[in-house]
Amino acid sequence: MKTQLWRLAGNEEDGRKLREAAALLRNGEVVAFPTETVYGLGANGLDADAVRRIFAAKGRPADNPLILHIAEKNEIKDLASGLTPNAIALAEAFWPGPLTLVIKSSGVVPDEVTAGLDTVAVRMPNHEVARELIRLAGCPLAAPSANKSGRPSPTKAQDVLEDMDGLIAGILDGGGCAIGVESTVVDTTLPVPMILRPGGITREMLEEVVGAVGLDPALESDKEAVPRAPGMKYRHYAPKAPMYLLVGRDADIHLARLAQLLTSRGVKVGIVTDEKDAFAALPEGLAEVKTYGGLLPVLAGKLYQWLREFDRAGVAVILAKGVPENGLGLAVMNRLRKAAGNNVLLAEGQNLLVQSGTRPDII
Ligand code: AMP
Ligand code: MG
Repeated sequence: MKTQLWRLAGNEEDGRKLREAAALLRNGEVVAFPTETVYGLGANGLDADAVRRIFAAKGRPADNPLILHIAEKNEIKDLASGLTPNAIALAEAFWPGPLTLVIKSSGVVPDEVTAGLDTVAVRMPNHEVARELIRLAGCPLAAPSANKSGRPSPTKAQDVLEDMDGLIAGILDGGGCAIGVESTVVDTTLPVPMILRPGGITREMLEEVVGAVGLDPALESDKEAVPRAPGMKYRHYAPKAPMYLLVGRDADIHLARLAQLLTSRGVKVGIVTDEKDAFAALPEGLAEVKTYGGLLPVLAGKLYQWLREFDRAGVAVILAKGVPENGLGLAVMNRLRKAAGNNVLLAEGQNLLVQSGTRPDII
């Protein structure tokens, strides 16, 4: 299949490009489009055959449900069988925006979208291209992130092309994604709403609107709970190189030491940390150091891009420093942990202990 790339340029040509993309969607084809979180892989969310094409392109397991994207708040009514007051309050407060609401499904939604659950996940994105495309297509768009299953999510059209060229009908290039991590997924059908996936809207922001909000036990780092959101059991966001996440009060020192040890043996490392200083002396060409100056929105915005850059640069090992798990830090740590395949090392004093997963062979 030839994958068409439409570059949106902010001029009068954009309308034609969007109409072409929407016509393909109405025809049951798959088209990738930008949102404020990451690029989505869209298809008509009410057409089971079209939705199956998303799974085929991504190589995604069929028991992982998809999010339906809508253009206007009131479109949720057709998809829901009854909305809880919490669902209404959260939509009012955060839509359009990076918040996905899990609600009781009305039955118009095919099993391919819900993975056979009696609930459906719905979001209204805060991105004019995404919403105009949904309007022109005339249906909700089922859209997971537009990466091959398991890979880091795409935050640029180029990333989508890397994973999907030849597999989908087209890609709308609307530039970079502002937020860079996926939406927060909240189950609003429970008496106390529960975060199934942390994301761009923080737990603290949700609690200001609806009071106490729970965290799915599967999100707590040290528990081996059975995930409620089917997708949560899969390895995600993973770069090609093995990755290790360093946490604990002496993470900085151990990160610098490990980087030195690896590069001194000729191993090329990728590093994600807040400040560059400790890594200035590493040998040229053997270290890719990415820093965010302690600013979590910058880390969230760049993380997937950096993981893809490490792959392109052929780094052999990736080391990242953990962040405190409040505010946006909860979502960032969730992605870091999954990208690292749960390889978490605890740095305290002289000790670097395995908290979960494995340690690099070299130490
Ligand atoms: P992605 O498509 O990569 O953005 O992932 C969508 C996320 O939403 C996954 O973690 C799914 O498991 C979750 N999700 C979608 N629909 C539902 C649902 N009906 N109930 C619970 N979680 C859902
Ligand atoms: Mg995804």
